[in-house]
Amino acid sequence: MISVQEALQLTNNHTKRTEKMIRISLSDSLGYIIAQDVISPINMPPFRQSAMDGYALGSVEDKDFTLIGEVKAGDNADPVLKKGEAIRIFTGAPVPDTAKAVIMQEKVQVHHNQLTIEALVLPDTNIRPIGEQIKKDEIALSKGTLVTAAGIGYLATLGITHIDVYQKPAIAIIATGNELVPPGQLLKYGQIYESNSITLSTALNTIGFTDISYFKVEDEYGVTLSLLENTIDQYDVVLISGGISVGDYDFVGKALRALEVDEIFYKVKQKPGKPLFFAKKECTTIFALPGNPASSLSCFYIYVLPALLKISGYTNHDLKRGTAISTTNYAKKGQRAEFLKALVQNNKVTILDGQASSMLKSFALANAMVYLPEEIVEVKTGDSLQIINLP
Ligand code: AMP
Ligand code: MG
Repeated sequence: MISVQEALQLTNNHTKRTEKMIRISLSDSLGYIIAQDVISPINMPPFRQSAMDGYALGSVEDKDFTLIGEVKAGDNADPVLKKGEAIRIFTGAPVPDTAKAVIMQEKVQVHHNQLTIEALVLPDTNIRPIGEQIKKDEIALSKGTLVTAAGIGYLATLGITHIDVYQKPAIAIIATGNELVPPGQLLKYGQIYESNSITLSTALNTIGFTDISYFKVEDEYGVTLSLLENTIDQYDVVLISGGISVGDYDFVGKALRALEVDEIFYKVKQKPGKPLFFAKKECTTIFALPGNPASSLSCFYIYVLPALLKISGYTNHDLKRGTAISTTNYAKKGQRAEFLKALVQNNKVTILDGQASSMLKSFALANAMVYLPEEIVEVKTGDSLQIINLP
């Protein structure tokens, strides 16, 4: 059995960024990582732009002007201004080539077509120069940047409609277990509702992974083997839930070994999630997660999520760690490192009731996990604890 630190290190060492790039529509690019520098096709702003509602001045040495016209946003007029002449102008409007500055309307007095300014203004005041934000052919956003709402808006200001990003992995989720039935059906004696697939797929969706296929398999060696063989062949990532423990009807480990996957580790000194299995087969990344709902989701957040982010090109793929002060006492029952469902508010952390690996209620209320390394045996109110923030 390996430690949490070793398991995190091995997961990181054995995942690498995909080589696959796709060109996608800007509107679909949220959460992707840019794979090729995005070059600006235009100067922004594309013309000298007024930053104010006011008056464009033909000279900056004068205080009295004659008004000779008006330019509003969207106009494509370029009136010629001589010394002592001004035009009415509005925010976003093109500033005539011959204008020396724009003065805000609050700083002038107007009588009929005569304008008087209180104080002289410096040349170029309130004029956004061509290419002030970015010039044509400069890099707008570079390779490796995460696409955010602001990033999409920024590229839209440059008229960009498509960008090259790293492809997100195609993910298979396999739920194993004879006892599992889909929500919506009546439970027979001995059955429970299958919840891990929807939990995992929703957690994946939250961080922008949508290429997900679902499979359900009985606890039977032959069908487990053939489903694993097919999915490992066809998907970039295979997430298996359950069947990886030591029971007589746990066939996942046996099948993965029969398929000669490269086993990187099996079993981590942690609670929940001890029987976690991590392997590779050619380009496919395989995680067999323990079936208990809280174990499965804990292992997902701790190991699977950073790996998926790294595969997708994120440089900032590590766990979002922090510290917070405990409001609760807690005594560990065993020696393993523990991940505890917790609620963090204002730098204080409360370890929630109901930490059993079969229970999801505490997870449903949590926004973080407390990480108790092996050497910490108890927590007292006021202790500073390591936390992992959940997305
Ligand atoms: P296993 O890892 O297959 O031994 O399963 C451990 C526990 O988790 C058992 O109580 C299973 O019934 C439960 N379990 C396994 N898979 C799921 C699932 N997909 N949804 C809900 N519970 C599950
Ligand atoms: Mg099972």
